[in-house]
Amino acid sequence: MDTMDIVSSLRAAVGDDSVRTGEGIEPRRLRDWAIAAEPGVVPVALVLPRDTAGVAATMRACHAARVPVVVQGGLTGLAGGATPVHGCVLLSLERMRAIERIDALDATLTAQAGVTLQSAQEAAQAAGWLLPLDIGARGSCTLGGNVATNAGGNRVLRYGTTRDLLLGLEVVLADGTVIESLGRMQKDNAGYDLQQLFVGSEGTLGVVTRVVMRLFPLPRTTQTALCAVDGIEAAGELLGAARRALGGQLSAFELMLPTFWRLATASASRAPLAAGHGAYVLIEASGFDEAADGPRFEHWLQSQMEAGVVRDAALAQSLQDAAGLWAVREAGSHFLPALGERIGFDISVPPGGIAAFAADCLPRIDSHWPGSTAVCFGHMADGNLHLVVRTPDAVQPVHAVESLVYGCVRAAGGSVAAEHGVGLHRREWLGHTRTSEALALMRRLKDMLDPLGLLNPGKVL
Ligand SMILES: Cc1cc2nc3c(=O)[nH]c(=O)nc-3n(C[C@H](O)[C@H](O)[C@H](O)COP(=O)(O)OP(=O)(O)OC[C@H]3O[C@@H](n4cnc5c(N)ncnc54)[C@H](O)[C@@H]3O)c2cc1C
Repeated sequence: MDTMDIVSSLRAAVGDDSVRTGEGIEPRRLRDWAIAAEPGVVPVALVLPRDTAGVAATMRACHAARVPVVVQGGLTGLAGGATPVHGCVLLSLERMRAIERIDALDATLTAQAGVTLQSAQEAAQAAGWLLPLDIGARGSCTLGGNVATNAGGNRVLRYGTTRDLLLGLEVVLADGTVIESLGRMQKDNAGYDLQQLFVGSEGTLGVVTRVVMRLFPLPRTTQTALCAVDGIEAAGELLGAARRALGGQLSAFELMLPTFWRLATASASRAPLAAGHGAYVLIEASGFDEAADGPRFEHWLQSQMEAGVVRDAALAQSLQDAAGLWAVREAGSHFLPALGERIGFDISVPPGGIAAFAADCLPRIDSHWPGSTAVCFGHMADGNLHLVVRTPDAVQPVHAVESLVYGCVRAAGGSVAAEHGVGLHRREWLGHTRTSEALALMRRLKDMLDPLGLLNPGKVL
């Protein structure tokens, strides 16, 4: 089938106003947040369905024409998963933005997959609930993208990843078959758990069209503090102490190493803490006891200072203060792009091994590429580190740096893709984290669900 025929069959399937071609496809759709399409890549069409039936009709048309499909959510992915491939149809869910129900008895939110995370959070909050999934890209990323990448973020240590928050899913397969499993039950062991198969599948196994997310009681108190400690080992000691003292109230524990701190606070008129410490940690706890939670947190923090674990601390006294402290942690989205060409990592190692990993990996980068900038930060309790490297070389030695870092990850028994996914970016390194038998099983699953290889070809496997 030639291009004109494909476009005609798509228009017949979903209507003229849902199909764009040529200059109607905005340049922003030729890349995700991190990776641009190969030069010369031209999508055949962009399809913007309004509902599941439109997605299914699109998939049936593409299946009949043997045309690859790349699904796009908010394009905030950091692994090239949503980046177009040549001759593909782009399938965007941006018109599928209905929040269908918030159910107080079940504590669930049901929505179309194109809803942004922030809209879902705000809708839950307006109804008196917390949707605890939270990432820096909340304003643009979509629930479908969050499921497709199994997004993690800031509050995983308390509430889990997207996988743990997902109760129901509707997905459209490569041939247009709709699999609906939107039950709002916590318990449902009726056979294989098919919906979890699609979580983290990055648009390679099916198109997520609707989701049911778990909601939690909205905490009434939040305590936020930035702490300076001597290094990663002290941060680990502080994490253990926070877990023991704050229990289930501990909702975030974010690590920032000194280079991150220097760049994050470079343009601030007044940094919340002085530079020169071995590591910085943002701690958040939230609870329900308005009288006791604040004093308990303050008392605990004081005890950590007296014990010499925390060297200095800034404790938020208001929501505005807390937002200011979080702004330091989230400053990477501004200062990292300013570094120019750079090599990014999203790795995990067992949390107890973070200090050893950093002591192994970071000096090696410096000795191979003296004068490099290595920015390291992450969700410490999950063992998840983000590392961004810029060497002084005019052309960044991407493969050599990746080889070094992923070698250290393998030695530490970690993962080359903690929360951003594999996409295009990390395919080559999957074998560092998955056995050949596991990779073969993944390929069999892909072949079974998408025998023509039309969904997001060249990604993940
Ligand atoms: C500033 C910033 C901070 C971030 N912080 C975090 C963080 O803390 N934790 C974290 O995990 N991630 C983080 N991310 C990465 C990113 O936001 C997440 O991966 C997010 O879940 C992607 O959602 P999206 O809608 O933008 O998906 P896209 O980028 O559009 O797509 C991502 C992948 O999902 C697939 N996909 C999208 N929608 C669907 C669908 N409906 N059905 C099937 N497949 C689909 C795409 O094909 C692609 O493979 C951050 C990104 C930025 C820019």
